[in-house]
Amino acid sequence: MNTATILRIEHTSISDGEGMRTVVFFKGCPLRCAWCSTPESHLPGREVYHKKERCTGCGRCLAACRHGALTVSPGTGAVVRDPAKCVNCLACADACLYGAMRVYGKEMTVRQVMREIEKDQVFYFHSGGGVTLSGGDVLLWTDFAEELLKECEACAIDAAAELDLFGPWENVRRIVPYLSHFFADLKLMDPEKHRRWTGQSSETILENLRRADEICAPGAIRVRVPLIRGVNDDAENLQKTAEFCCGLKNVSAVEFLPYHRLGIHAYEQLSRPYALQEEPRMSREEALEKVSFLTEQAWPFALVLDGERLR
Ligand code: SF4
Ligand code: SF4
Repeated sequence: MNTATILRIEHTSISDGEGMRTVVFFKGCPLRCAWCSTPESHLPGREVYHKKERCTGCGRCLAACRHGALTVSPGTGAVVRDPAKCVNCLACADACLYGAMRVYGKEMTVRQVMREIEKDQVFYFHSGGGVTLSGGDVLLWTDFAEELLKECEACAIDAAAELDLFGPWENVRRIVPYLSHFFADLKLMDPEKHRRWTGQSSETILENLRRADEICAPGAIRVRVPLIRGVNDDAENLQKTAEFCCGLKNVSAVEFLPYHRLGIHAYEQLSRPYALQEEPRMSREEALEKVSFLTEQAWPFALVLDGERLR
């Protein structure tokens, strides 16, 4: 029986594909984008985090930890978890009576996820929605995702996905044919810069997207580009991204997403450093200034900024 670590399931999203959607977030990702807003999706297994505003300082978690990973800060009196010592045995979360030590991720079977999806079927009918698989990285869980998509197909439930497209082509080939549309993240065209900012080269991702273009539904691809100041928001990278998309048959939109800081608290809760800690968010005006030169050229796809069509 296929199981996967599911980070969470959102039931009424209107920003992850057509209509109202159930979004299934998988846990685990091979990339480490410096600006990532979901650090809780990085590791494929379940992991603890500390919600310090709920902590009473009772000390039960310290007594439960057999790995010396928890201490009390002499300065603030707060419980501190050392990620280098923590083995994610989850004993502290079991011991905490106040919901302050918590767990990201849940092991689920395909049947359990389908039960969650089926609760929303009435909304799909009225809105033209369906299921979106997201991450983390869906392709890390290809066996599970393929079985889930087959079940959706059997129930006539529309399926979409957000894909980072990193990893073996075989995984992409098994998933893409089930999708009516999918979001493909293109962060940086230059392979070395991509490696520097995400931990992996862009070459596999670009090659997988070229090949996915050959087997996907017509107009299925929506490219997403996060705009990160000083990383990938230069005219050369944006121009090359648009030109690359021009070489594909099935890109219906290229969407730019200005940098935001929504994930910053998750880094704190996981006791993990955040590379862009001091970087301010990018306003829509600033983002528009960066991408507006592209609107002066003709493209065979829509240009979208933060959900709003530019041309
Ligand atoms: S999950 Fe980490 S901090 Fe919690 S008890 Fe286990 S080793 Fe200790
Ligand atoms: S057991 Fe929970 S409430 Fe008690 S100190 Fe640990 S995290 Fe805080």
